Amino acid sequence: MKRKLSVVSLSFVLILLIATLAGCSTGQEKTANIQEEALNSKKENQVVNLYTDRHYDTDEKLYELFTEETGIKVNVVKGKSDELIERLAREGKDTEADLLITADAGRLHRAKTKDLLQPVTSNTLTNNIPTNLRDKDNEWFGLTVRGRIIVYSKDRVDPSELSTYEDLVNPKWKGKILVRSSSNIYNQSLLASFIAIDGEEKAKQWAKGIVENMARDPQGNDRAQATAVVAGEGDIAIMNTYYIGKMLNSSNPEEVKVAKNVGIFFPNQDTTGTHINVSGVGLTKYAKNKENAIKFMEFLSSPKAQEQFAQANYEYPANPSVEPSDLLKSWGEFKPQNINLSKLGEFNQKAVEIFNEVGWK
Ligand code: FE
Repeated sequence: MKRKLSVVSLSFVLILLIATLAGCSTGQEKTANIQEEALNSKKENQVVNLYTDRHYDTDEKLYELFTEETGIKVNVVKGKSDELIERLAREGKDTEADLLITADAGRLHRAKTKDLLQPVTSNTLTNNIPTNLRDKDNEWFGLTVRGRIIVYSKDRVDPSELSTYEDLVNPKWKGKILVRSSSNIYNQSLLASFIAIDGEEKAKQWAKGIVENMARDPQGNDRAQATAVVAGEGDIAIMNTYYIGKMLNSSNPEEVKVAKNVGIFFPNQDTTGTHINVSGVGLTKYAKNKENAIKFMEFLSSPKAQEQFAQANYEYPANPSVEPSDLLKSWGEFKPQNINLSKLGEFNQKAVEIFNEVGWK
């Protein structure tokens, strides 16, 4: 009897146990479902907010590709470089921007010194972007590369007469050099590179010599200098490589004509190399979607994004494993200056002072 009872009670305990376990597993499933739903809704709400000075349709396709791959939506605010930096500074902690994309290492450095960016630790980024094309504290990363080159009148200049930036101060070029104002960051970065390479005094002599050889007071943008060469106002202009690409592919036939009538020359090939600069990206100091932002930075540095990203603005990819476009390849390979582009920012103020001193308007 005693034994019977214990069997019954054992069976009872067993049934109770199974029932409890069954109940438990339903509970677990429920928890799992809730967790999955939360994850999905979190995924749907994943965003990265971008302030950018770029405005290319091909960029939109890249953003879509990134969203397809990661579920992270890219929200874009487009604006002019300096205005975006001012806006970031004004918004402070309240900014919605996670990332800033802007042209020129000098400008990226400015955003850094205004304490608007933060360092990023990412092996993907440091593997994809060479050391000289990123901030030494990894607060910004170059994504595309441009050269600041010499273009010349095919009618009046024999390219064998050209050699270096330094040679442009030779009296033989008196009244023949066209270059934009010194208030422009591209010229400030160019002079900053000379300060980094040759020192202040030589850089100052160069700037002074250019002022003496100018065909006219600086006016207009880079494209306007090439236009003035073809119009016969001067023989030689200093400008960024991508403007040639833009002009060759312009809907304005006048621009196409200008671009076809100037020669392209990469200076300092036997010496210090042609001046290069970047367009790049930085993680904002108060980024609210930091993880997503770093994922997006890594995506933009990847081979698959680099090709399109660089081609949109006729620039060279910063990732050395990616080939430049056929147009850029047709200009030949060139030796770039061998300095860390952080220097362009570090010597920006000095460059501005020199320009003022020598009267480069
Ligand atoms: Fe530009």
